Amino acid sequence: MNITNADLHCHSVVSDGTLSPEDLAIRAQTNGVELWSLTDHDVIGGQARAQKAAIDLGMKYVSGVEISVSWMDQTIHIVGLGINPEHEGLVAGLLQTRDGRVARGKLMADQLAKVGVPDAYEGAMQFCGNPELLSRTHFARFLVDQEVCKDIEEVFTRFLTPGKPGYVEHAWATLREAVTWITTAGGVAVIAHPGRYRLTELQKDEMYKSFKEFGGQGIEVVTGSHAPYQYHEYEKVALRYGFYASRGSDFHSPDESHTDLGTLPMLPTSLKPVWSLFNFN
Ligand code: AMP
Ligand code: MN
Ligand code: MN
Ligand code: MN
Repeated sequence: MNITNADLHCHSVVSDGTLSPEDLAIRAQTNGVELWSLTDHDVIGGQARAQKAAIDLGMKYVSGVEISVSWMDQTIHIVGLGINPEHEGLVAGLLQTRDGRVARGKLMADQLAKVGVPDAYEGAMQFCGNPELLSRTHFARFLVDQEVCKDIEEVFTRFLTPGKPGYVEHAWATLREAVTWITTAGGVAVIAHPGRYRLTELQKDEMYKSFKEFGGQGIEVVTGSHAPYQYHEYEKVALRYGFYASRGSDFHSPDESHTDLGTLPMLPTSLKPVWSLFNFN
């Protein structure tokens, strides 16, 4: 089957999005998405609901997750597509990755209190649908709600990023672990939004090579996290390293996200879409 509109990256209230899996499915279908994936951070609790909603609306669905990885003192994200959400190794690995978010959140709040923003832990929790997944996004929503910042973008320039108040280092999964959990669960590993990482060309080369060596096969080329000029940049990367290409909005919220579900340009025609690896019934 020829898919033209695939959106294989977004978030629900099960992680740091603001819509339910069902409301995301409706939004995707309304915007013409034919193949959809919900890729919550480090959690697969929304997969059954997303799949059911997608099928009921006549869309194709591939299961998904976005795993937080620590690599070279940075956080990078690896999307897993077509995984078996019940695979024991994956389930255990994600549980291990989620562990520590609450303790980290308390340390983040301590830092924010010191710069005059009290009660941020409780405040962030008010915006959080799943305490195991308490994330910087929930703190950002609290800071906007408190009128400390005018929007989420301002939060991530003044707070919550390395060197700024409210940023706490965390050891996520290793790259090898994330790719292995995904592939042993029958999925395809995809490097999320490569244009966002502050890595040198040499470090990026090392990341692509290690990712491949561990069994990774895909890279996001057209994503809501890339500026249009980066589509071509990562088209070249996909060709050079032999990666399958993915497309996804990284939609989190109607009030916050610049890119809506299903509205990005198509993948460059030179690339092999990652969804060509999946069999649809
Ligand atoms: P965490 O996993 O708790 O470290 O939170 C990471 C999340 O914060 C990402 O998935 C994004 O949703 C959000 N985030 C990080 N940087 C930015 C940014 N510059 N602008 C908007 N959201 C961001
Ligand atoms: Mn997020
Ligand atoms: Mn991400
Ligand atoms: Mn994401």
